[in-house]
Amino acid sequence: MTSAQPLGWGLIGASDIAQTRMIPAIAAQPDSRVVAVMSSQRERARQYAERNGIPRAYDSLEALLADPAVDVVYISTTNDRHKEQTLAAARTGKHVLCEKPLALSLDDAQAMVEACRAAGVVLGTNHHLRNAVTHRTLRRLVADGAIGAPLAVRVFHAVYLPPRLQGWRVTAPAAGGGVILDITVHDADTLRFVLGDEVVEVTALAAQQGLAAGDLDDTVMGVMRFRQGTLAQHHDAFTIRHARTGFEVHGTEGSLYAEDVMTQDPVGRVVLRREGAGDEEVDVGVPEDLYVYAVRLFNAAVRGDGQPAASGEDGIRSLAIALAVRESVRTGCRVPVQYPTQTRSDPAS
Ligand code: NDP
Repeated sequence: MTSAQPLGWGLIGASDIAQTRMIPAIAAQPDSRVVAVMSSQRERARQYAERNGIPRAYDSLEALLADPAVDVVYISTTNDRHKEQTLAAARTGKHVLCEKPLALSLDDAQAMVEACRAAGVVLGTNHHLRNAVTHRTLRRLVADGAIGAPLAVRVFHAVYLPPRLQGWRVTAPAAGGGVILDITVHDADTLRFVLGDEVVEVTALAAQQGLAAGDLDDTVMGVMRFRQGTLAQHHDAFTIRHARTGFEVHGTEGSLYAEDVMTQDPVGRVVLRREGAGDEEVDVGVPEDLYVYAVRLFNAAVRGDGQPAASGEDGIRSLAIALAVRESVRTGCRVPVQYPTQTRSDPAS
């Protein structure tokens, strides 16, 4: 592949997120295009390819990975399938952008990172929120000391799961369903990114409020404690129809209020409040589609320029936090977050 050749992306999974966000994002880049899709069902693969203008449709992973036009795979199957598909892609030398959560266990996520490293392929985790210009602005302001030392964060990420997505997320524990692996895992990544700090301990309570069945939860509230002492509270749900989303950081010298920012769209605003200065709307710059941003950085990383927006290690860390939240819900206890020892110590790239 030369830098003049567009990167060929193969989609593993004929998913909603690929259709609604990632296919347009890949097509928006001058240097990449979707060349193939794989679904476990032949007819679905064919129809999906036709609907989305994708040249080739496969019903086996091996066939997609054998396609010489595929340089990169985007994995957006149910969460239980991410690990095996990533390992297979790494074995065939394909770069991998994988959806969150990376896997269902830390051992599996660690194996994915190690396999991609050994194969010399790029691995990214598709945590979209850190790509938002609003969250990048929050991170910069916190790092610049605009609010002094961060003391507390409040994350409002309670939404209503659209009916078309009310499938495995609320019915299938084995597929990796439930609000914690779906939404809390994104909070974990965004918190690490904005604060530049790591979670050491969590506590949480969850409930079923009408959508989730069996062992799965559709709402959770919790508190995370960070290494530097910051406490973050989070409310994540599939069941709240009318709430606004938000992300507030309260520090010794001021507060940041980000409204309508826990979303897939490039929207929302950031307000800075400081002693004596009142409220000031922060100029966050030009919003860019979160997924376009992700693909742009991923393509560059594949060409040897920089890193994906969120790395495999970032995916391990957000998963470690989400699994600790789930354990706290199960046991009713405070749970320390266990990170695999091999992961990079530098937090929140
Ligand atoms: P979907 O339910 O749309 O797709 C997941 C899998 O389910 C597909 O790979 C497909 O399997 C199968 N499937 C989908 N529709 C049908 C159908 N009608 N009949 C039979 N099988 C079907 O999942 P999502 O797009 O909602 O999520 C996929 C992944 O992306 C998850 O890991 C999720 O956590 C993540 N995600 C990330 C987001 C982000 O912003 N970062 C947002 C939304 C999801 P196959 O084609 O392989 O046979």
